Amino acid sequence: MKSLSRRQFHALTLSAAAMAALGPVPSVLARRRADEDGTLFDWQELPGGAWVAMGQGGNTLLVRSAGQAVLIDCKNPGLGATLRREAESFGTPVRLVVNTHHHGDHSGGNPAFTADLPLVAHAKAKPRIIAQSEEMLGRARRVLQGLEGGEKPAPKRVIDEVKSFIDSIAGVPGDAFAPTRVVEERMEADKFGDLEVQYHHIGPGHTDNDMVVFFPSLNLVHMGDLLFHRRYPVIDLAAGATTIGWQESVREIIKLCDAKTTVIPGHGEITDVNGLATQVEFFNKIREVVRHAKDVEGMTKEEVMNLTPGAFEGYEFQQMRPRTLGAVFEELEKK
Ligand SMILES: [Zn+2]
Repeated sequence: MKSLSRRQFHALTLSAAAMAALGPVPSVLARRRADEDGTLFDWQELPGGAWVAMGQGGNTLLVRSAGQAVLIDCKNPGLGATLRREAESFGTPVRLVVNTHHHGDHSGGNPAFTADLPLVAHAKAKPRIIAQSEEMLGRARRVLQGLEGGEKPAPKRVIDEVKSFIDSIAGVPGDAFAPTRVVEERMEADKFGDLEVQYHHIGPGHTDNDMVVFFPSLNLVHMGDLLFHRRYPVIDLAAGATTIGWQESVREIIKLCDAKTTVIPGHGEITDVNGLATQVEFFNKIREVVRHAKDVEGMTKEEVMNLTPGAFEGYEFQQMRPRTLGAVFEELEKK
């Protein structure tokens, strides 16, 4: 990366001040904003040579060791080539890729990596990733529309990369999205450079194939979508989600953490162990809200879906709120 211009330095200082006003964000050293040098993603630097790419799908974590890089999650379909180019612009080639679960906003970019790199996911993610591969063209087209539209279109080379993916997808088999190595145990680990990278699957939570990726020596964890930080979460019942299991998974990961652990959510700002505790508490509260509405006030599912619980004021992904409430209602109905 180039050294920062004075203007860029001031931009960083300002953003740090703005972030401080929002509350502490652990250990973010620097940011490379979207649009700087034609960059698409908003990159945040963490200690230990790690970066997080925010926006355009789930958060992607880049960890570097011994001259190579590992990427956790691959953004929306069509963005794999852009992600790989931006990740490698930090000076280290990507040598390993991980999907935290099958959803397309975490695995859509996979074809940019699977031809020449190992890609790790949970065993139950693999058939789901292959089964959804035909949806990826339509999703990539919507990504392109989003990049071309809006007040400020994305950089031309990004547009070209997405178009090139769309043009090539007819010849891309479903296998090109699929992981090349699957995790079946509750915990498996790889050696990566000088680091150990651990894959934890506690059980069904957000889906039936959630994997948390933990770097013990960096005290750094990527939660995948087991953490929607201060956002209404997707509860994918059709893919085996359970909020009780979700809480259990997060509680198990909390045991790996201490006060200094850096926690990367699937969606939302970088946080710490408090963010994990808040996610557990979220489900306690929302189940109580839905149980009360359903059993005490006699509300229908439709009525419950239209609630705006005061306990979650300020949460983002408000467009998800009816689906989140509806899923909790369905879960409670089953009991
Ligand atoms: Zn997800």
